Amino acid sequence: MLERPRLVVATGNLHKIQEMTDALGQWFVVEGLPPDYEAPEETGSSFLANARIKAETASQRLGLLSIADDSGICVDALDGAPGIYSARFAGDHGDDEANNDTLLQRLGDRPLQERGAHYVCALSLADPRGQVFACSGEWFGQIGFGRKGSGGFGYDPLFMIGDGRTAAELPADEKRRISHRAKALAKLVVWLEERRTQIPG
Ligand code: IMP
Repeated sequence: MLERPRLVVATGNLHKIQEMTDALGQWFVVEGLPPDYEAPEETGSSFLANARIKAETASQRLGLLSIADDSGICVDALDGAPGIYSARFAGDHGDDEANNDTLLQRLGDRPLQERGAHYVCALSLADPRGQVFACSGEWFGQIGFGRKGSGGFGYDPLFMIGDGRTAAELPADEKRRISHRAKALAKLVVWLEERRTQIPG
């Protein structure tokens, strides 16, 4: 049996580290970033480009395999906005309440059929030799007329799936099975399964 290599999750988000540990712990010893690590600027123009910047920078600086994700929501009626700017749609980074208010305002009273949206999760896995694997997952739904539910984070109270529930109303384990992040992780797991014996340390 091969020893599991170390894998750094290039994020400060404990929730993401836990999710990656659950999905990838059988292949890797998953760890977070060192406390003094300064995250690079996300200067890419796509989710994949930003995920790659985060994974490659961590991998090169730490000399370890690294994984990063970049995610957000794209709203059809807003030409895909807020997209890569999802975390700071209203201005301040990570202000979920203000971001949700901005989204509701921007959609106004458009009918439900014009409120289509999808979450995107881009994943990038980089090794210190400069090799990168990338994949992404999407989760389709609609933006409701007001907040519903108390679970999840970000735009979840507004994001309605086919049965009318919002992502914030789903039990955490159900969201973890069907979300954009789950879909991207499932693709990565298939890729890892195919290379089970060749994963570089
Ligand atoms: P980041 O990739 O951690 O920078 O996240 C980008 C932003 O996208 C978050 O701040 C949320 O606003 C939004 N987002 C990404 N994934 C989700 C999700 O699963 N639920 C709700 N909002 C999300």
